[in-house]
Amino acid sequence: MVRQLFNQREAGIILKTPISFLNSKDKLLWQGTKDDSFSVRSAYHKEIERTHFQSSQASSSSSFTAVWKQLWQLKVQPGVLLWRSCLEALPTNSNLYKRRLVENPLCPICYLEAEDSAHALWRCESAKDVWSQCSKSLQKCHQPHVTMIQLLEDLLQAMDSRIIQEFAVVARKIWWRRNKFLFEGTFAHPNAVVREARGTLDLLIEEESRLGRGQTNTQVEDWQAPPSNWIKLNWDSAVDKANGVIGVGVAVRDSLGYTIATKKTNKLLFPNPLLAKAFGALKAVQFGVELGLSQVVVEGDSLQVINILRSDKEGCNS
Ligand SMILES: [Zn+2]
Repeated sequence: MVRQLFNQREAGIILKTPISFLNSKDKLLWQGTKDDSFSVRSAYHKEIERTHFQSSQASSSSSFTAVWKQLWQLKVQPGVLLWRSCLEALPTNSNLYKRRLVENPLCPICYLEAEDSAHALWRCESAKDVWSQCSKSLQKCHQPHVTMIQLLEDLLQAMDSRIIQEFAVVARKIWWRRNKFLFEGTFAHPNAVVREARGTLDLLIEEESRLGRGQTNTQVEDWQAPPSNWIKLNWDSAVDKANGVIGVGVAVRDSLGYTIATKKTNKLLFPNPLLAKAFGALKAVQFGVELGLSQVVVEGDSLQVINILRSDKEGCNS
């Protein structure tokens, strides 16, 4: 019915709205004012905001694609955190404040300015303490940057792939330290963060040289990238009959073919091959939800599972 009454875009938005389990009555709310009541003045401001947002999004999306292409060419593994920070999709206080989930947008560590991803990972004094222990070229890079995309654009112009890889790893450690501080009340010393980052970098270098020595994976050559702005999740599963364990691997790649996240998991389950494939599909989809992905292609090699998922039949067996 929703699809009959509204156009495709509007119907999509309505159908994505979560329905409350509390059975409370619906009421009309306007998000443009503090007291949720409508005014023409606030509608005018909303429209200005929307137009500005659309134009800035279009330009940042092309910069994002260019940055990601360069990282891919340099064979840097940026990881999902950097990817989300460039899209300003991290749960920073600025983002939570926009959704009215926290009372102010300030950085939870320094309280000096609104915490967007560039503040949390780069501009914050606590982050600078970590960067000051890193490679010299990163230490010298002091200019205040507005967004993570702009920062990466500058780094890509001036630095080699090793330094960019270091930047990606250290940024990840800084975010984890911030979260530990927020949720567990512990705050690691900058030296400890850098030491941990160096360990991760050594592992990445080892992995890189191992792959360099090894053979190319023929399966990857057959892989088709998803359309622009889409993400593809590939899953595969294996059965360990002797121990009754099902193992699942999921790889998440963007439209340039770049791996942005991976996941490995296993579970004690009846070692049935079809169940293993279905469990793999479930884990792939759950992983996509965890990462907050919306435009996703899920790809697996089990035709049987894909056909079951495609069919509208309910009441599948266990
Ligand atoms: Zn701060």
